[in-house]
Amino acid sequence: MITLDKIFKPKSIAVIGATPKRGTIGHQLLQNILHFGFNGMLFPVNPNYQYVNSIKCYPSVLSIPDPVDLAIIVVRKELVAHVADQCGEKGVGGLVILSAGFKEVGGEGIKREEEIVQLQKRYGFRIIGPNCMGISNSDPNVRLNGTFAPMEPGDGSLAFMTQSGALGVAILLAVQKRNLGISHFVSVGNKVDVGGDDLLEYWGNDPRVRVMGLYLESFGDPRRFTELSKKITRHKPVIVVKSGRTAAGSRAASSHTGQLAGLDIAVDALLRQCGVIRVSTLEEMMDLVLALNKNPLPKGGRVCILTNAGGPAIMATDAAVSEGLTMASLSDATCDRLGAFLPEEASLNNPVDMIASAGPDEYGKSLEVILEDDGVDIVLIVFVPPMLVEPREVMKKVAEARIKHNKPVYAVLMAEDRYYDEIPRRFDNAPPMYRFPESAVRAIASVNRYRQWCERPTGTVTTFASGDASVENIVHRQQQAGGGYLPPWDVNRVLGAYGFPVCKCEYVPKGEGVASAAEKVGFPMVLKAQGKDIIHKSDLGGVIVDIRNKKTLREAKAKMDKNLKAAGVWDRVDGFLIQEMAKPGKEVILGMTMDEKFGPLLMFGMGGTYVEVLKDITFRVMPVTDVDAHEMVREIRSYPLLEGVRGDERVDIEFIEESIQRLAQLVNDLPDITELDMNPVVITPDRAKCRVVDGRIRVAAPKANTNES
Ligand code: ADP
Ligand code: MG
Repeated sequence: MITLDKIFKPKSIAVIGATPKRGTIGHQLLQNILHFGFNGMLFPVNPNYQYVNSIKCYPSVLSIPDPVDLAIIVVRKELVAHVADQCGEKGVGGLVILSAGFKEVGGEGIKREEEIVQLQKRYGFRIIGPNCMGISNSDPNVRLNGTFAPMEPGDGSLAFMTQSGALGVAILLAVQKRNLGISHFVSVGNKVDVGGDDLLEYWGNDPRVRVMGLYLESFGDPRRFTELSKKITRHKPVIVVKSGRTAAGSRAASSHTGQLAGLDIAVDALLRQCGVIRVSTLEEMMDLVLALNKNPLPKGGRVCILTNAGGPAIMATDAAVSEGLTMASLSDATCDRLGAFLPEEASLNNPVDMIASAGPDEYGKSLEVILEDDGVDIVLIVFVPPMLVEPREVMKKVAEARIKHNKPVYAVLMAEDRYYDEIPRRFDNAPPMYRFPESAVRAIASVNRYRQWCERPTGTVTTFASGDASVENIVHRQQQAGGGYLPPWDVNRVLGAYGFPVCKCEYVPKGEGVASAAEKVGFPMVLKAQGKDIIHKSDLGGVIVDIRNKKTLREAKAKMDKNLKAAGVWDRVDGFLIQEMAKPGKEVILGMTMDEKFGPLLMFGMGGTYVEVLKDITFRVMPVTDVDAHEMVREIRSYPLLEGVRGDERVDIEFIEESIQRLAQLVNDLPDITELDMNPVVITPDRAKCRVVDGRIRVAAPKANTNES
């Protein structure tokens, strides 16, 4: 395949549809290319002109005497296929199609787009667009501004891709406003060929790119994205603004896992598992780019705040703690050194409050002392300019002080707008500056999470010996019968085959006595109603636990019959389960729901009948490694309960981790399972006593187009 170099590092460009008419895209584009100083040959193409902007113009790309690497196309939609065909004949390596009127408009547009796809297949050239805003590359050897944006992309190390052309302009503006530069900008438009994955790969290998930013509306191929980004994010941060966070409504699903997996959960889990930093707004993204651009990564998460005012420092402290950062504790030596020159009223503990009289020298000296403390990983400067203290001078001293130390320093400068522009221009080493403590802290916390990701072991996918190969047949049979929920005995066989400790269990059809089944299971036991459509049994009075003898069993059965009749579900009851009673423990949920696009989503959380209320759960996409399992267990809010509080013993947490991995294996082996819930799994301190007390497995309906013979 032709490399994207033809697009990003062309030696020659044809602008097809270039025109001298002001106020048109064809004109603005040519202006932008000229103005940015493209380092190669430029050929306007337009049969109506001999010259455009004093440059010789060609009637078609075929009449250009030199080879053409890149064609940027701005002709009418009806002509795009024709000129693209000519490009193919000419041997052009890359096409950037700005013209709109394709798939995005439906109808004829879809056909037009299909023609382009066919041409791409025929000639093998790479395409960006159609319906896009263009591309740029600020590499001094290239200097290509192939966009029609009204402003220039300054030189820098952020590569940015947007799925929305309109947002492109907003991004270029935001970048400019923060004195950040861009290495590459790409508006991908309808993505007939080049998409986010290709760009990730390309930029991952480009040493000029330090940070990648993506504005995504949809994923092309989640699996490819996962593979690529997992590798890239280990050495380059990737920040994603993914719209559609609040996509309303969860899918129609009857399982706990299905109901709890909102539409956005898969995206969230996937990005997190790939080390991609997800932000909600472009502003947050810019804050983060600023943070990453101007600082090394921290070595740890211990923050020291240096301030001249109490209020903002308290806000910063609160934000830091709630974002999971640690307030550094300064060494005695550091405090003594600070005390030697700061006024008596100053507070020498973190936050270090130098009080309002602090000027440039105090900031500079204190910062140096703090940076020398081994217990500090990150410094956040807070400065509220009092009268007579010049922000420029303070930031100058800060810039000087930090130069000798390889530690990140951030600043909250609560000053007039002009300083945000002026200071970074004047002092190369000025720290990234934020207007408010919260935005600074949020960026710091994201950087810190990214550091943790870089340090995190990759983990391995464990394979356990599975006992019973015939479970595949169980699933297959169910599928042939139209899919749906497996009966409880099959659920137990499938789970049992993967090493899950299912309860000893007997099934009694409706109308038969429960006594002999009870004898086989033994007391204490649990009685449960069973029926295909009976989903939350305890809601209907269909679960009675801790039955200790025959007499209470008889009473329980009578009571349950009454409950089920009162609830109006008696007709739907097929029979009853007599189940061994699990030893007391902590109830957790393990589950899986199949996402059409992202594949199986694994869930772990605090389980039992309140799972939907508490929503103390976490998700992963596949593959799930031992490290993922370890983190999942520790991510939920109730984790301390598993560790044991108030005299409770610690439950077998390693067993939960193992179970998560066993579930991953099951799900991987049996792809026709679309939903699986184990709720609850009762976890005790002793793994031999842990039990899955309630399990449900749903199998997909047979695929319409499979031809079974
Ligand atoms: P459902 O989820 O359909 O309401 P469950 O079978 O999960 O029904 O039972 C509800 C609750 O009853 C469980 O969360 C658990 O606390 C308790 N329970 C059910 N079966 C057992 C068992 N075999 N041993 C101990 N407790 C059980
Ligand atoms: Mg249950």
